[in-house]
Amino acid sequence: MPRFCSSCGAPIGRTAPVACPACGKEHWLTTSRAAAALVVHEGRLLLTRRGLEPWLGRWCAPSGFCDGPEHPAATAERETLEEAGLRVRVTGYLGHWVDEYLPGEEGGVEPQWCAVSYYHAVPAGDLELRLDPREVSDAGWFLPDELPRPLAPPSNGARIYAAWREAFRAGRLETLLADR
Ligand SMILES: [Zn+2]
Repeated sequence: MPRFCSSCGAPIGRTAPVACPACGKEHWLTTSRAAAALVVHEGRLLLTRRGLEPWLGRWCAPSGFCDGPEHPAATAERETLEEAGLRVRVTGYLGHWVDEYLPGEEGGVEPQWCAVSYYHAVPAGDLELRLDPREVSDAGWFLPDELPRPLAPPSNGARIYAAWREAFRAGRLETLLADR
């Protein structure tokens, strides 16, 4: 994020929101869109163990950043296929959580945030997992009361999976997806 103005190249030296002292261009804080798939099969949730930073070694739903204009529901399906080798179909929406993905630095580098849309999903093909070792070190299907720890993201993980457990228990894994 801008230590230098993207318009005129002048050093800015403080975090956005800020106007460039040289040309006046305004710089804003931005958040990257991402999505996750909460895949349930026979009462168990698919979780993967992160094989890369940040949050290395923590457990989370298959997830990743949206590719440009990609719809987050499509991202959730694509990431599950890429990370776990599992073809899935999104069936509902749980909610949206924002987390700090990379911390900021001195000298005007803003923290980077990810805004993750969490979708319910079910397997849409065979159930064999084929993990991508560049992203995932382990994976498994877990009962709602036996989710592995620690969860990712560190700040919101517990909250997100508590919300999922509540939706699961209430049978609310299919919702209207009016934007698909
Ligand atoms: Zn400028």
